[in-house]
Amino acid sequence: MQEKKKIRAVFKEELQNLLLSLNEIEPINNGERMCIVCSKVITLENIQLLIPRSGNSIEYVCDSPTCVEAYNRKKETKP
Ligand SMILES: [Zn+2]
Repeated sequence: MQEKKKIRAVFKEELQNLLLSLNEIEPINNGERMCIVCSKVITLENIQLLIPRSGNSIEYVCDSPTCVEAYNRKKETKP
């Protein structure tokens, strides 16, 4: 359990740096990014997946297990 927490913390720091480099920190802080599955507003606290798309757009999936599962299923059905 403790190990998991540690990994998550490191991940969060990397995530912030990544979002900074993508200029995505601001839109997220402004509540302008949403989960592509449930449309919940994405925050630094609930980002589970970040999917870079062509045209510099990025899709987000929140940390809800349902959303992660739905996204994975969607990915599988894609050509
Ligand atoms: Zn969601």
